[in-house]
Amino acid sequence: MGKRVLVYGSFVVDLTSRSNGLPVPGQTVLGNSFQLGPGGKGSNQAVAAHRAGADVTFVTKLGDDVFAKTALDFYEKEGMDTSHILIGKDMETGVALILVDEENGQNEIVVVIGACGKITPEDVDKARSLIESADYLLLQLEINFEALFRIIRIAHEAGVQIILNPAPAAVIPEEILRMIHIITPNETEAQALTGVVVANETDARRAAEIFLQKGVHNVVITLGALGSFATDGSRSELLPRIPVEAVDTTGAGDAFNGGLIMALAEGMDLFTALRYGNVTGALSVTKLGTAPSMPGREQIDRLYQEMYCS
Ligand code: ADP
Repeated sequence: MGKRVLVYGSFVVDLTSRSNGLPVPGQTVLGNSFQLGPGGKGSNQAVAAHRAGADVTFVTKLGDDVFAKTALDFYEKEGMDTSHILIGKDMETGVALILVDEENGQNEIVVVIGACGKITPEDVDKARSLIESADYLLLQLEINFEALFRIIRIAHEAGVQIILNPAPAAVIPEEILRMIHIITPNETEAQALTGVVVANETDARRAAEIFLQKGVHNVVITLGALGSFATDGSRSELLPRIPVEAVDTTGAGDAFNGGLIMALAEGMDLFTALRYGNVTGALSVTKLGTAPSMPGREQIDRLYQEMYCS
């Protein structure tokens, strides 16, 4: 059995419309289809890690509205523990309004994180023993920073290994960065946080060096179709992407983080975990959607064997 993973992060309902063309300001267009589904980086990564076989507890904050039920029903169907999920009275559950242009695949997105942006110090303290007893803590930047930094400090003091996916990109104080065991930006986030444009392995090395100088212990950078990169300060490796037929790359980073943390929780080293992240990310792009596209353990093991064991 793997060690205990805690994901403390966002849930938002993805409300997706598909239309021919996107409306310009003041315009209304009739859409072709609509879909409602679970989203949010925290939730997606928790689902990915759970499906990959990790022992995951997920904490998020929902509103007291109909969308909270969407979340709770989904986790129950997934077989995930919902007992630590917070409900904010008179708050709204986060939503992402996603408009997709069917003619060219372009999109426009507005995210309102709702209750996930209103996690109080008391909310965090309620989960104190849960945080302290975790082995690995996976975080993103989609909850309010006051709560996020409080969670990080509690975990750090208890010796919990903290993995931070710095998405969406934002400035993080160095005092916090020094508490991070592994940071996992994609190329855009790595650029925003280090100033290095990351387009190849040399760039990834340069960006990673800056993170290491700021005090992060290990760096993993996902490079989309280029694959992924990791360094622990002495060894580094660029892993090419796994050739798959990409249908929908949304949620690839979330899948990657889920696969990575599962492997770490099972005691694998950074570079083996990188391979599990790469496999999980690749499998997720072969299916439509975010949470629903997260692969199961059997599928992950099969592709891992095929890619890295023959
Ligand atoms: P994000 O979703 O945060 O932008 P990336 O696009 O960097 O994240 O993708 C995360 C990981 O998913 C990559 O490092 C890679 O392992 C995998 N991945 C992404 N796109 C592809 C692809 N087209 N083919 C195979 N693997 C992919």
